[in-house]
Amino acid sequence: MGAQLIDRTLLTHGSDARAQLNFREACRAAVRVFQLSEKYKTAPYPNAYAVWFAYSTKSDPALVAEIDELLLGQDTISPYDIDVLFQAYLAEDQSAFAAHDLSQAIGDEIGEVLSVIDASLQQNSAFSETLTTLEQDLPKAATSPEQLNSLVSGLIEENRRMSAMTMELNQGLVRSQTLIAVLSDQLDEVRSQSLRDPLTSIPNRRAFDKTLEDAIKQANRTREPLCVAMADLDHFKALNDTYGHEAGDVVLQNFARLISSNADEPRLVARHGGEEFAILFPGSQLMEAYNRLVNIKHLLSQTEHQLDGNPVALPVVTASFGVVQYKPEMTPRELMQKADKYLYEAKAKGRNRVCAPGLG
Ligand code: GH3
Ligand code: MG
Ligand code: MG
Repeated sequence: MGAQLIDRTLLTHGSDARAQLNFREACRAAVRVFQLSEKYKTAPYPNAYAVWFAYSTKSDPALVAEIDELLLGQDTISPYDIDVLFQAYLAEDQSAFAAHDLSQAIGDEIGEVLSVIDASLQQNSAFSETLTTLEQDLPKAATSPEQLNSLVSGLIEENRRMSAMTMELNQGLVRSQTLIAVLSDQLDEVRSQSLRDPLTSIPNRRAFDKTLEDAIKQANRTREPLCVAMADLDHFKALNDTYGHEAGDVVLQNFARLISSNADEPRLVARHGGEEFAILFPGSQLMEAYNRLVNIKHLLSQTEHQLDGNPVALPVVTASFGVVQYKPEMTPRELMQKADKYLYEAKAKGRNRVCAPGLG
């Protein structure tokens, strides 16, 4: 568990921490993290360790202040708050860390492009100097036909040289143009990857948080309804334990596909965490969102999950859902906590159901 913590710490805090964190410091940090986990009764999982590590090293004053504020009114921190803190303060670090090498490569490429442009500017200015000199010398030389002749041949020669140079420059600029197009595609790819969950290819929690903020602003502006749902696969740990992690991955992919294709546009489906998914229904009243979820729940219970190369289908998997409607003045956190509350109610009532205020 200690090694897991140290790995996580290094992953989260990057190469500076890697250089500085010697073994003894890591052990001390681990002890502090375990003390905090115990004192505030947080579940033993990597995101909680990372949050407590950041808290105990005071690496980010805003994170420390937010945790202190949370601890004013309670003596524990919920898994939801741990995940919110992790996403807000630490997940970004990880993605920035991962993107670092790419940014470096892109920076180098841009340097190359700039040097091509610089060379072309220098050659252009040398050409224009030569032309100016010739232009000035031409009238003086007009008195001697030999000199005039030699100037004109010089001019023709210079012109040829410049044509060749211009062609070379043009080719250089065309190459730069291609390079810039490739870079810009790579940049788009990096952006889209940082907002996607690699296993299911649907948006990740960061994408969802951003879209939720925008959707709330839009709902406030237009006064149109907005619903948010949380879905969680039932007894998923048992499925993993019995049929293996790969089987669990197949089910996650199938479920992601199912909810993505059954929540009509405009909407957003995201993998919010392990086996939890968040769904946004802008423009929908609670009843409409509820009915769509009941349909998804039904379709999931009819879905056959097949592991590659295994002729026997996996067992039926069900999911529980909590859905709520946005009310003016609610913060994104309050809205998500309320959806979580109804998801919890669906679990408590026996799973494989949809719960919503006043419904189900
Ligand atoms: P409940 O019905 O109360 O939701 O029970 P549960 O077993 O689904 O919930 P629990 O939180 O105990 O377990 C969630 C499991 O999800 C544990 C974890 O191993 C698994 N899980 C999380 N992410 C992944 C993943 O990416 N792939 C696989 N295969 N399993 C995952
Ligand atoms: Mg579950
Ligand atoms: Mg869960």
